[in-house]
Amino acid sequence: MKFNIGDTIYFARAGQETIWITCPECLGSGRLRVILGDDSEVSIACECCSRGYEGSPGKMQTYAYRSVPEPVIITGIETSKHDETIRVVYKIGCWVTEEKDLFATRDEALLRAATLVAEHEAEEKKRLGYKEKQHKTWAWHVRYYRSLIRHAKEEIARAEAKLAMVPKNVKEADKL
Ligand SMILES: [Zn+2]
Repeated sequence: MKFNIGDTIYFARAGQETIWITCPECLGSGRLRVILGDDSEVSIACECCSRGYEGSPGKMQTYAYRSVPEPVIITGIETSKHDETIRVVYKIGCWVTEEKDLFATRDEALLRAATLVAEHEAEEKKRLGYKEKQHKTWAWHVRYYRSLIRHAKEEIARAEAKLAMVPKNVKEADKL
């Protein structure tokens, strides 16, 4: 075991906070203009920053990561055996962590924390990138909404046609 209860050490942890960024696709407008193959232009709600029923606010939620290792005191150590390996976890107040994230010096902790921050940022970028890629399907969305409208219009036309067949005055129709 590298450390003991009561030791003051540095805990490399990548803290995160929620931040909002301007949507990279609609640049904050919440809408996108799509030019279709026949040169016609339509404006659709931005899918990139879409929050479902809440609409497209033109901004996206993401995380900002930072690491400022502070000296902390180990308040507890727990060991457990899984198969043949012994796992050691350290308690630091309300945190539970492993040896790999604990360091005797602040510099070592800073180095490790910087790696963690980079890992989190890469993951978050991947997550946001997934959304960014969706601009390839803007035209698909236009086609989809148009087909919804077309089908709805056909439904209305069918319903109206059925109503038109009903005689205006039902009682008079009965006499026929
Ligand atoms: Zn957007």
